[in-house]
Order: sequence, then C-alpha cells, then structure tokens
Amino acid sequence: MSAQSPRYRRILLKLSGEALMGGDAYGINRQTIAGIVSEIKAIVDLGVQVGVVIGGGNIFRGVAPAARGMDRAQADYMGMLATVMNGLALHDAMRSAGMASRVQSALNIEQVVEPYIRAKAIRYLEQGRTVIFSGGTGNPFFTTDTAAALRGAEIGAEIVLKATKVD
Ligand code: UDP
Repeated sequence: MSAQSPRYRRILLKLSGEALMGGDAYGINRQTIAGIVSEIKAIVDLGVQVGVVIGGGNIFRGVAPAARGMDRAQADYMGMLATVMNGLALHDAMRSAGMASRVQSALNIEQVVEPYIRAKAIRYLEQGRTVIFSGGTGNPFFTTDTAAALRGAEIGAEIVLKATKVD
C-alpha cells in the first residue's frame, strides 16, 4: 500500500441542509454547494466510495412559520420532502462538476427520484457513483442524523462523517 492510498474505502457523509445555505438566511447558495461538491469530488477521485445523506433544515426553515402548530408528523413529511429538493440540487451540482451520482429517496416519489434500494445503492457505489440518500429515514419523528447512522450501517461504510455548517 502506498502512502497515497486512502484510509477508507467507503464513507457516509451527512450533509446538513444548513451547510448548503452559505451566508444566506435559508435556501441553497450556489457557490456554497459548488464548493462542497468539489470537496466531495476530490475524495471520490482518490477512489473512495461516497454516500451522502442530505438534510433539509435550510428549506424547512423557510416554511417553519407555517409549520408551527401543525400536526408533527405532517410537518415532518414536509421536512423529508425538503431533503429531496436538496438531494436534487446536490445531484445537479454534481452533474455540473462532471461527477456520476444517483439520488435515492426513502419516500416514494418515483417520477422524481428512484426509491431507496440498498442493493442498488451498493452497486452504484461499487461503480464509483456517489449516492445521495434523500427523504431521511422515511419516517416522521426522526432526523437525517438517524438516517445517516442507518444508511452508514446498511452500506457498510467504515465511517460516518457529519458536515454541519461550512464556511
Ligand atoms: N425528518 C423526518 N424524518 C427523517 C428525517 C427528517 O421527519 O427521517 C424531517 C424532520 O422534520 C426534520 C426535517 O425533516 O426536522 C429535516 O431534517 P433534518 O432536521 O435532519 O435536516 P438538517 O438539520 O440536517 O438540515
């Protein structure tokens, strides 16, 4: 093994929605997402297989006032949908950077993203494609941190890394 060999073969990165905001109050900052993608690309280019669990806090923030007083499970489904929007944005930013990636969702919205299928996700990773896991766990009363631990274990990631707020 050369000194240049990566330490990990397969990793799971948890990217919070807030990491995508940059200096903005909510939403997705284009430059910020491009910067994050170039960092992920550098890791993939080393030969590391990368799975990404994406959060939704940045979009959910924008609708939080409406969600106040709302049925908890209903609000949580909105939060999960926010992660799908972020997943699509991340996928597109990866495409612009010349990366091969796939988005899966724990919630079935088949016209938009393919459903989460563990074996398929692993196959993509083996092919060197980055897999974006959206929709959290698919269950209300959970968070995308739980989804990261879950997907990390399911895909056999050697480490789960969490990126919260990136300057
Ligand atoms: N969420 C959920 N179940 C999950 C994952 C997420 O109900 O398995 C909802 C929950 O309302 C949460 C929102 O989606 O507040 C956004 O996820 P999270 O807060 O984990 O995003 P982050 O803070 O990482 O951006």
